[in-house]
Amino acid sequence: MNRELYPFPGGLQIPPHKELSNAKTSLITPLPDSIILPLQQHIGTPAVPLVKTGDKVLKGQIIARADGYVSVPVHASTSGKIIDIGNYTVPDPLGLKAPCIVIEPDGDDVWFEIKPTHDYASIDPKDLQDVIREAGIVGLGGAGFPAHVKLREGTESAVDTLIINAVECEPFISCDDRLIREKPGYIVNGTRMIRHAIQAKYCVIALEADMPEAYAALKELIDDDIDLIQLPVKYPQGGERQLIKVLTGMEVPSGGLPIHMGIVMHNAATAAAAYRAVIRGEPLISRYVTVSGEVNDPRNLQVLLGTPVKHCADQCGYEDKEGQAIILGGPMMGMYVNNMHMPVIKTTNCVLVTSTYNKSPEMPCIRCGQCVDVCPEKLLPQQLFWHAHAKNYDRLREYHLFDCIECGCCSFVCPSNIRLVQYYRKAKRQITQDEQTRSGADHARERFIARNARLAREEQTQNNELLAGSDIGELDKQAFIQAAVERTRAKRAQLGKQENSDDDQE
Ligand code: SF4
Ligand code: SF4
Repeated sequence: MNRELYPFPGGLQIPPHKELSNAKTSLITPLPDSIILPLQQHIGTPAVPLVKTGDKVLKGQIIARADGYVSVPVHASTSGKIIDIGNYTVPDPLGLKAPCIVIEPDGDDVWFEIKPTHDYASIDPKDLQDVIREAGIVGLGGAGFPAHVKLREGTESAVDTLIINAVECEPFISCDDRLIREKPGYIVNGTRMIRHAIQAKYCVIALEADMPEAYAALKELIDDDIDLIQLPVKYPQGGERQLIKVLTGMEVPSGGLPIHMGIVMHNAATAAAAYRAVIRGEPLISRYVTVSGEVNDPRNLQVLLGTPVKHCADQCGYEDKEGQAIILGGPMMGMYVNNMHMPVIKTTNCVLVTSTYNKSPEMPCIRCGQCVDVCPEKLLPQQLFWHAHAKNYDRLREYHLFDCIECGCCSFVCPSNIRLVQYYRKAKRQITQDEQTRSGADHARERFIARNARLAREEQTQNNELLAGSDIGELDKQAFIQAAVERTRAKRAQLGKQENSDDDQE
């Protein structure tokens, strides 16, 4: 079917470099010496450990439970022994450590009891969402948002269109391309399953024209129930807002969500993982990862979650050389890391080794406006830069800093070599931290006021009970009441003082 397309503003044509890795069949990565599983591999609350050091675990067993609605469990990705629960380096731009469960594999790779389901269409959509949650499925396209939350939003509102995003627009990354070529049935059936889970009217799988083999593999399995769309190549077309614009002509408003427009989007690999979880009963314990750039044998790997990044790079002929940078993700939106000790997690799609990153010193902004021309969000990147530099957070909000998708187009074209996105990321982090601190202080103050109000109520009740049960005369009663009123006044005055001093501290 020919579908009208609506190009998004800005964007770039960038050399794709996908040919380095996408032509070779993926390899199953051998078991590493240790598996390091962070309790937080998703957006939301970290999982809570259910095991202790010394426990034996089986492959696929839940070792940390979800904590709250926006959270997912963590499963052992192989069988073995828990050798530590502690802080380890995780994928993080600041090189931070976070709580992890470490497994020493026993080499047997023995599965925990799994419960396959052969007919997803017979399962109630809400039950299907629970299965997907228990399997620890999160968005595998990069963000790591728990998949069940998006699905639940889908059942709570009428969904017009389900979009399966197979647009892999970042240079070098080809893990979705390989997954689709090798397991097209997972994608197509996963798409149908998600459609059933949210009862969507229409369904689209979108990918770019530089994935002809993947397109052909899907085409073979698709009937009229799914619209398969090939898009002209343009970066960052895989962005949620950009792809919605291209396919529907609609723009997700600032601060809005696709579901408010009747649209739900999932990544192709997420659809495959969800299908696998339901039909084969296998939780999310592995994923495809591209290892590319300056390694001897760039290719895609099937990797158990928790496998150290260095172990993956070694399978592809990595050699440690002077001047190289390691990026988790692609060169535009990826995260520079200063070692390879951290594990592959649910959101790790690529390990890129490169020495051709921007090392030139930053120069002053010359107001050329090139960054404005390429911004797909129609922002004013140079203004954002000035206000981020000046730490003027109010102005950054006015200029819609949080609409920035960190695509890197502005940094890419900047003739002054200004790493614009780094400034935006830092500012976003600071604003978020400030908000968390403020909401923590507000919460403490509310609790303080509520506690004092409760104490005052209790004292009042005691006074009433005393009065009711006593045989003191009318005059004494008046004096008793007056004393109680005075005490309450004094307490209120004290409370007000405390409140003011809390305000002063903020
Ligand atoms: S591209 Fe760079 S130099 Fe040009 S206006 Fe933007 S920030 Fe300034
Ligand atoms: S990184 Fe942000 S400001 Fe820069 S082009 Fe992308 S969306 Fe616009």
